[in-house]
Amino acid sequence: MEFSSKLLENAVVEMSQLPGIGKRTALRLVLHLLRQPESQTAHLAKALVNLRTEINFCKNCHNISDTEICEICANPRRDKKLVCVVEDVRDVMAIENTSQFKGLYHVLGGKISPMDGIGPSQLTIESLLNKVKAGEITEIIFALSSTMEGDTTNFYIYKQLENTNVQTSTIARGIGVGDELEYADEITLGRSIVNRVPFENSLKNQ
Ligand SMILES: [Zn+2]
Repeated sequence: MEFSSKLLENAVVEMSQLPGIGKRTALRLVLHLLRQPESQTAHLAKALVNLRTEINFCKNCHNISDTEICEICANPRRDKKLVCVVEDVRDVMAIENTSQFKGLYHVLGGKISPMDGIGPSQLTIESLLNKVKAGEITEIIFALSSTMEGDTTNFYIYKQLENTNVQTSTIARGIGVGDELEYADEITLGRSIVNRVPFENSLKNQ
């Protein structure tokens, strides 16, 4: 792609670093910004910079939060003994939208994926196990997407919990293999949490 301006090229190159954004789409977005009032670009740039400099993760569940302890963990009406294990903030948002879950979350920050060089130590698994050891949890619900990485991660955590009294369950799947949680519709996802099954049962089906 030949550019008539170095400034234009720089903006397009930076924009095209984002996932799913090729050079053509990046050019379209950049030209769109140029046609809008300057203040819009300033707001966008400020929001992105603030996101990086001021972002916080909840000390308890590791979800993205503006405060040290997120609103969900700080809510006295939530059942602190029931913990739903998810991959990232998108899953928390999807499950919260169902209004069917009254426990807390534990955000792993990814899934175990040897192909991508992600092992258990890069995730927040130890923090979860520490909460279990402290006796804070009676049931853990696995709500990772049913991909190979999701299953591997569930099983790894399940094995770590073997000699504890914690019950483990997995969300009932109205959700097809490989579908990300965030794409499941609210009713299906809500139902799958209410109708969760003991994790052992899900192993027998494999
Ligand atoms: Zn939290």
